[in-house]
Amino acid sequence: MKIAKVIHYYDKIGVAVVEVLKQPLKVGDTIKISGHDNEFNQTVSSLQIEHAQVKEIAKGEIVRELVPKLPFGTYVKVNQIVCMRSFKATGRARARIWSFPRIWQVALKLPPYYVIEVLSGHFDHLSDDDKTRVLIHELMHIPKNFSGALIPHRGLHKRISHGTVETLFRLYTSNI
Ligand SMILES: [Zn+2]
Repeated sequence: MKIAKVIHYYDKIGVAVVEVLKQPLKVGDTIKISGHDNEFNQTVSSLQIEHAQVKEIAKGEIVRELVPKLPFGTYVKVNQIVCMRSFKATGRARARIWSFPRIWQVALKLPPYYVIEVLSGHFDHLSDDDKTRVLIHELMHIPKNFSGALIPHRGLHKRISHGTVETLFRLYTSNI
């Protein structure tokens, strides 16, 4: 009986993000996980039920790794980047970055922050390399002065395009 659809499986830590199709799924159940080319049994040791449509994800699992290995390392403050995963998002974007304009920083007495939002339905199924590319793209929107503002796709000095993302992706993969 198919009880759930696996949206993403983190094989290193044995955690599956699933959409439950048939209730109930409970701790202690042994479930069979079938992938493209393998199948295995796993006992459900804990369950986290997602009620919210947006949730903070491990602060930059990839972002934290990416930034120091790329030119971003000199100006991107990883502690001031919050990564969010949203569910049931509309639109076709795989991710987006949100600015925090200076007027809000002054009003709320907070330093600049950025939110990188990944849209679960369009992002989770990507290969690791493509996820990295998407995050590089979003990070490229951050200006060198880390002001809270965003750089447009076609700027005066910089262009955020497939080509410029790929250049940084290559640099990253050669630095791992
Ligand atoms: Zn963009």
